[in-house]
Amino acid sequence: MGNASTTDWVSVLRELGLKATPIRVELLALLSPDHRLLSVDEIHVALKKGVANRTTIYRSIQSFEEVGLIVSTELGDGIVRYELRHRSQKSPAHHHHHHLVCRVCHKVKVVEECVVGKVPKVIRDEGYSDLDHRLDFFGVCPRCQKAS
Ligand SMILES: [Zn+2]
Ligand SMILES: [Zn+2]
Ligand SMILES: [Zn+2]
Repeated sequence: MGNASTTDWVSVLRELGLKATPIRVELLALLSPDHRLLSVDEIHVALKKGVANRTTIYRSIQSFEEVGLIVSTELGDGIVRYELRHRSQKSPAHHHHHHLVCRVCHKVKVVEECVVGKVPKVIRDEGYSDLDHRLDFFGVCPRCQKAS
């Protein structure tokens, strides 16, 4: 596991056959600390002014998604956000987790422990390789329960 300062994004990008442009490296560094779920607009705001426009950000995001470096998620508020995804156990980008989302305040809690365990037989029987899963839970958080 690496953190933002030790992850060598230039090597990760090259390993994946992507050109390690400064904007791509900056985007990945932006998404790497702890749990970051950012929309294209939020990335645009977070980057230094004039570094990249939305189209450039979106294209980089798409190239990351194509190689499985990041995934898009929509957690009930209609906004597509992106986050780093694990690629392999050895990858510095490894981060498998689940989300626990409040339907009222849209707060996202990270569930670090995988709650699925073994891949169910009904899925294994389909014969797919490189199986992965995504699972998000939605509910009303304790704070919002008290407020209602
Ligand atoms: Zn997440
Ligand atoms: Zn809530
Ligand atoms: Zn899991």
